Amino acid sequence: MSVFDPFHPEVGTKVEIPYFFYLVQHPDGNVLFDTGGHPSLVSDPRARLGDAADAFEVTMQEGDDVVSQLARAGFSPDDVDHIVLSHLHYDHAGGIEFFPHAEFYAQRRELEFAHWPPVYQREIYVRADFDHPVAWNELDGEFDLFGDGRVVIFPTPGHTAGHQSLLVHLDGERAMVLVADAAYLPRNIELNVLPGIVWSPDAMVASWERIRALKRRYNAQLVFTHDLAWPETTRVAPEAWYE
Ligand SMILES: [Zn+2]
Repeated sequence: MSVFDPFHPEVGTKVEIPYFFYLVQHPDGNVLFDTGGHPSLVSDPRARLGDAADAFEVTMQEGDDVVSQLARAGFSPDDVDHIVLSHLHYDHAGGIEFFPHAEFYAQRRELEFAHWPPVYQREIYVRADFDHPVAWNELDGEFDLFGDGRVVIFPTPGHTAGHQSLLVHLDGERAMVLVADAAYLPRNIELNVLPGIVWSPDAMVASWERIRALKRRYNAQLVFTHDLAWPETTRVAPEAWYE
C-alpha cells in the first residue's frame, strides 16, 4: 500500500496491483492505450527485471499479455493502428514489439527519461521493452489524435517526466479520462496525497489540477490503471465495455 500512498491507513498491507490497457475504437482507426507487461514476465520475471523482480513480485499469468487479451476481445495486433503510451515503465511498455505496424505516440521527454532514468527509476525501465524499430511520434505537449477532439493525448508529468493521459469523448456516455499512472488511486487526486514513486511532486499536483479541470468541464469519469477497486469501478472486456 505504501507505493500507492505512504500515508494510507493500511500501509504494511500487501496488495495485488492490477494492470490495464485500453482499446478505443474510432471511425478512423483503433487506438491502444498502453501495452501491459512483456509475456516473459509470466515465467521468468527476474530475467527481464533483475532486482526489481524482488521489489514487485509479478503475478502476471499466462494469457494476461496484451496480444492474448486483444484476442479475447476479437482483435489481432494488425487491427491496432495507433498506440499511445502513458509512459515506458515495464508494466505499460512490455507489448510494444508485438505491434510492428502501428504508429506509436509518446512524449519526447518520456523517451529521453526512459533511456537515461534517474537511479531510483532505473530498474522499472527495461530497454528491451522500447528499443524497437517502430514508428515513434515524439510529442511535445497535447495532441488531438484524429483532429476531431474525440481522442486527445495530454501531458500529465509527475510520476515520470513525460507521462501522458488520454481524454476520450464517447458517443453515448460521459467523457472518460484514462489517467494511467498520473495517479494510482482516486484518493491521490481527491486528497492530494502523493504516491511512493514520484519524479516531481509539483508537476504531479499540477497534472492533478488539469485532470480535475477536465472532470469538471466534461463531467468526465476518471479511469485508473492500477485502481484497487476496479471490480466496482471499471468495465472490463470482453464481458463489458463503454460506448
Ligand atoms: Zn509507472
